[in-house]
Amino acid sequence: MPLETCPNFIGGEWLVPKTATTPVHNPSTGEVIAECPIGTAADVNAAVEAAQNAFPAWMETPPVERARVLFKFRMFLEQNFEELVHLNTREHGKTLVESRGDVKRGMEMVEFSCGIPSLLMGESLENVAKGIDCDTIRQPLGVCVGITPFNFPAMVPLWMYPVAIACGNTFVLKPSEKVPLTAIAIAKLLEKAGLPKGVVNIVHGGRDVVDALLTHPKVKAISFVGSTPIAKYIYETGTKHGKRVQSNGGAKNYVILMPDADVENSTRGVIEAAFGCAGERCMAGSTAVVVGGADKTVLPTLIEATRKIKVGPTDRETQPDMGAVITRQHRDRVLELIETGVKEGAKIPADGRGVKVSEAPNGFYVGATILDHVETGMTVAKEEVFGPVLNVMRMEDLDTAIALANKSAYGNGASIFTRSGKAAREFKHRVNCGMVGINIGVPASMPWFPFNGWNDSFFGDLHMQGKEGVHFFTQLKVTTSRWFSYGEGDIWEK
Ligand code: NAD
Repeated sequence: MPLETCPNFIGGEWLVPKTATTPVHNPSTGEVIAECPIGTAADVNAAVEAAQNAFPAWMETPPVERARVLFKFRMFLEQNFEELVHLNTREHGKTLVESRGDVKRGMEMVEFSCGIPSLLMGESLENVAKGIDCDTIRQPLGVCVGITPFNFPAMVPLWMYPVAIACGNTFVLKPSEKVPLTAIAIAKLLEKAGLPKGVVNIVHGGRDVVDALLTHPKVKAISFVGSTPIAKYIYETGTKHGKRVQSNGGAKNYVILMPDADVENSTRGVIEAAFGCAGERCMAGSTAVVVGGADKTVLPTLIEATRKIKVGPTDRETQPDMGAVITRQHRDRVLELIETGVKEGAKIPADGRGVKVSEAPNGFYVGATILDHVETGMTVAKEEVFGPVLNVMRMEDLDTAIALANKSAYGNGASIFTRSGKAAREFKHRVNCGMVGINIGVPASMPWFPFNGWNDSFFGDLHMQGKEGVHFFTQLKVTTSRWFSYGEGDIWEK
């Protein structure tokens, strides 16, 4: 099959730049399926210029008309759903069911964005002083930027630009160079929906493109999602250059299994949280904390279920339980971290190291793995593995389990499985993170609520999604007004 090309999308033109490229793989087979351009500052300048030129007219377009484009976009996403799902699976490696979730979550962001006109409404107060009124309006910022990771090729870009453009901004997206194809296919649907030229632009690339975006004087705001060191760099560099920044980082999320937890439901919840999308999720439940007697109830079932997880290629009709990880290098890193865990004293009751996938021997596979008796000082307890590896830690009671979770540098999500309302309430109140699950393994918030990382999982003030997302992409204007009748009150003459 010929390699797919990855054009930039600048000012309504799809052009393949003549720059160096980086290969895009199908992780299921290890094959190269596309070449992604490594753009330059010149590409960034052209894209920002196009976005800047499109801004005045788009800002003046009534919010309901902007929303109408998004309604149409939503319809095209629905009509092309399975095609996008298959493309997403092909370049990412997740199962078709997981890709359906990825595209669906992205569509829900578009649905949310269709309703943004009502969230743009201001407030007013009559008679702040006699005869004087005060009101607020929300206005767009100008050119906004999105820089996205590999793990949700459809959803994460859709966390950003539908909200930004519904608010009247224009946008430049830099998708992950590992998964550029889904972002391109989705933007083609937005173009088909009638979005004016230059309102959304795409530039492919790596660090040079990111740096040019972070420092460009015409860029007003940056949305970033990726690993913590880069998220911090983006926040620091972007704010230093006067930009508004929301920057989501990595995570390490704890799932507390209380002794009274329902065995079947909590096993299912933890399996899905730890091994869904091969563990490549910022909301992955990567550490199970077994409390008291839960090591005799839930843990044995969890180990048994993990050993049964079938890994294999996802780019064909027969689907496995779990797909490959994103690249060969990432697979090697995950295997190395497992190895380090074992060397540092962890037991390995489910061992995915030697997994063989005969129908796709060159795919990037790691089998589902459990590292038991993990201790806080171990490398696997500290580092985000971002693969199908579940740490198991043991704690005496809820207090020590919460204390353990609260030592984490991160703060995306934490969950508890219990039948006790008291324990659940205590956990929700005291755990130090921004998204809490009660008998839910992956408490990722829906579009109407902020995607709410704390600590090193988020740098900024206003999160993506919900009202916070709308506030991020708009600025308030407060007007204080007094009107005189003709000839009334010669105040300047007295
Ligand atoms: P990454 O940080 O390597 O890359 C993210 C983006 O930053 C990509 O577009 C990449 O091209 C760019 N980038 C990479 N290195 C850079 C550098 N040195 N300078 C400038 N830009 C650079 O992340 P990834 O591997 O693509 O994605 C996985 C990470 O994303 C995990 O840590 C995961 O937890 C995190 N993530 C977080 C959330 C969240 O909402 N908190 C959601 C999804 C993924």
